Amino acid sequence: MVRNGEAPVIPKLDEFRIGWELVADWDLYQCFGLGRAAIIQFSRGCPHRCSYCGQYQFWSRWRYRDPRKVAAEIAWLHRARGVNFVDLADENPTSSKRLWREFLEALVAEDVPVRLFATIRATDVVRDADLLPLMKRAGMVCVLMGIETTDPETLAAIRKGSTTREDQQAVRLLRQHGILSMLGHIVGFEEETLRDYRSALRQVRLYDPDLLNAMYVTPHRWSDWTAENGAREVVQEDPSRWDYRHQLLASRHLSPTAIFWLVKLMELVVHARPRALWRVLAHPDRDLRKHLRWCFRYSFRVWRAEVFEFLFDNPRPRRRLTLKDWFRRAPQPAE
Ligand code: SF4
Repeated sequence: MVRNGEAPVIPKLDEFRIGWELVADWDLYQCFGLGRAAIIQFSRGCPHRCSYCGQYQFWSRWRYRDPRKVAAEIAWLHRARGVNFVDLADENPTSSKRLWREFLEALVAEDVPVRLFATIRATDVVRDADLLPLMKRAGMVCVLMGIETTDPETLAAIRKGSTTREDQQAVRLLRQHGILSMLGHIVGFEEETLRDYRSALRQVRLYDPDLLNAMYVTPHRWSDWTAENGAREVVQEDPSRWDYRHQLLASRHLSPTAIFWLVKLMELVVHARPRALWRVLAHPDRDLRKHLRWCFRYSFRVWRAEVFEFLFDNPRPRRRLTLKDWFRRAPQPAE
């Protein structure tokens, strides 16, 4: 591997065309049980500064496309390519409430039955509560909110800029407007104890999300969090497993095996709550019930595959490097 030097940022995203013609077989791209799916970016970057995040430094600054052009492109994808589901891959599509509203209005005006999924900050869901009916009309079925942690001190330490109260309120607001909520919860920011896992589980259950995406902290070479945590020990040497789904850093208080089972237990307990199961079986909205069933089916398959991998395909590192040394060993830019 040779790492190139940094490329200049693209100042105007609209000046570059999207290479949709490179997709040879659209049927290979499916999601949410809705048939053909596409991933689109309305914007790049993020104006926030969460310390662990690799996004805002990677993309340098928040840039966006013309909201009407993005809406027209989604409509074209539906009409010309049969796309029914769009995942907005933006780091933070709601950075500007005005532009977000313009995009939603333009998509409603296109009048296509495309369903959307997006990652949105819980604080923005609360801020934009008045836009939720418009979001629903534009086709939003599910919002992933990276709450990251349920511990107020850790939230402050990672500069998340949100509170546990807002996280809970965001789940409630989405439910009131018929949009599913998925919480992104990250373990490993601190060297958590058993007690931390217990209180996180209690808190997540209190939030009552429709879905939980439990992940492991995955450091980026350039993030502030990595610089501050350079002495943490790496337990996963295979770079292909640095994917948020594998534990990478050791904890002083719990073994990797204990952490793995605690995370798996958390996923199981949150999804097997009577309220969550009841929604899957009898959600009054037929479409949401269908989406939930699809999500549960695939989440369970992932859960099962990860347990299988942990038991039968989980090589341990021979010696432990620190995070700092791990990144030092990575390929350096070509001169
Ligand atoms: S975690 Fe989300 S809100 Fe925070 S800087 Fe990264 S993209 Fe922005």
